[in-house]
Amino acid sequence: MTKKIVVVAGGGGFIGGHLVRKLLDLGNCHVRAVDIKPLEDWYQVSPAAENFAGPADGDARDFRVCRTVCRGASDIYQLAADMGGMGFIENNKALCMLSVLTNTHMLLASQEAGVKRFFFSSSACVYNAEKQVNADVTALAEADAYPALPEDGYGWEKLFSERMCRHFREDFGIQTRIARFHNVYGPNGTWRGGREKAPAAVCRKVIAAKASGDHSIEIWGDGTQTRSFMYIDDCVEGIGKIIDSQIYEPINLGSSELVTINQLVDIAEEIAGIKLKRHYKLDAPRGVAGRNSDNTKIRSYLNWEPSISLRQGIAATYRWIEEEFRKECDPADAKSLATSGFSHGSKPIPGDGYNAESKHMDTWRQGIPVGYGAAG
Ligand code: NAD
Repeated sequence: MTKKIVVVAGGGGFIGGHLVRKLLDLGNCHVRAVDIKPLEDWYQVSPAAENFAGPADGDARDFRVCRTVCRGASDIYQLAADMGGMGFIENNKALCMLSVLTNTHMLLASQEAGVKRFFFSSSACVYNAEKQVNADVTALAEADAYPALPEDGYGWEKLFSERMCRHFREDFGIQTRIARFHNVYGPNGTWRGGREKAPAAVCRKVIAAKASGDHSIEIWGDGTQTRSFMYIDDCVEGIGKIIDSQIYEPINLGSSELVTINQLVDIAEEIAGIKLKRHYKLDAPRGVAGRNSDNTKIRSYLNWEPSISLRQGIAATYRWIEEEFRKECDPADAKSLATSGFSHGSKPIPGDGYNAESKHMDTWRQGIPVGYGAAG
C-alpha cells in the first residue's frame, strides 16, 4: 500500500522539525518538509523525509513551490511564518504581515490539490489586547479574540489567516483545523540571535552568567508580566489530536500553568544551581501584561490538555542550550550572550492606531525581501 503524503511547511523550524520527526516515527506517511532556510540552517534534518529547502525550492510565499509540494498530498501542516519572540515581532510588523502570502498560497495550492486536511498554526497573539492589561489574568477563552484588537502586525496576520481558513472550509469544503499556540519552548529551537523567546533567552542568559562568572541577569520588563509556556512534546501531541478531530473553530493549544517572568528565572536558576542579581530593562519589549490559556474547550473536546510541567520542560531545554553553548561559544564571549539586543521599533498600537514615524526611513529603497529575486 502506498503511504499517504503529508506536508510540513516550516519543517526546518522549531515546531516543524519536531513534527516531522514525530510523523516519521509514526511510520504511516511519506513526509515532505518545506522551509525557505537552506538545509544547513534547519534545526533538525530528517533524512527519511523529502526535504524542500532554500529560497528556490522551499519558499512557501511562492505559489509554484506550494503547488509542487502539495501535489498528491493528503494532509498539510502550515507552520511556515516569518516570526520570533517579542523583540522580533514588535520591530518587524511588515515582515510578520507578509506571512499572509504563505498562508494564502498554501491554502490555494491545497485546495487545487484536493488535500484531505489542512492544519494552521495560529497564535495567542490574536487575542484582544484589552483583555491582557493585568498580570493577574483571567485565562483567555477562544471567544476573547473578538471584538478584534490583536497584537499589532503578527497578531492581525494570524487572525486574518484564521478567517481565511474558516472561509475556505465553509465555501470550498477543505477540512481546515486551527490551533492557537501559547508560547512553545523546548530543545532544537531558537536560543540566540534576536528571534528567541523568553524561556530560551532566560536559559541562555543564566548559562552565560555562569560561564562568564558575572553573576547577574538582565530581564526584559519588570519581571511581573505573566505567561504560560507549553513544552514542545505537548504541542506536537496536541497538533496530532486537533488535526484528527472534528474541531472546526480555532482552539487554544497551551499550558495553563501561569508564571511570572521572575518565576521563570527562579526555575532556570534552580536548575543551574546559581542565584543571580537581577537587572530589569524597563524599555525592552515586554508584550502584554498577562496571558494564560483557558483550556475548558480543549478538555471538553479531547479530554486532554498539555500537562508537562514548566520545571520538567525547562530542565530539558536548559540542558540542550547548555550543550549548544558549549559547542558554539567561546567562554570569552559569554558576557555578550548574557543580554539580548533589540531595536526601538515603532510603538505597538493595537487596533486602528497608526504611527506617523518610520523606524527605518530608507527601508523601502532596499526593495522587497530576499527570495523574490530581482525585478524585471
Ligand atoms: P520557527 O521560526 O522556528 O519556524 C518557522 C519556520 O518557517 C522557520 O524555519 C522559517 O525559516 C520558515 N519560514 C518562514 N518563512 C517561510 C517561507 N516563506 N517559506 C517556507 N518557510 C518559511 O517558529 P516555530 O516556533 O517553529 O513556529 C511555527 C509556527 O507556529 C509559526 O507559524 C508560528 O507563528 C506559530 N506559533 C509559534 C509559537 C511559539 O511559541 N513557538 C507561538 C504561537 C504560534
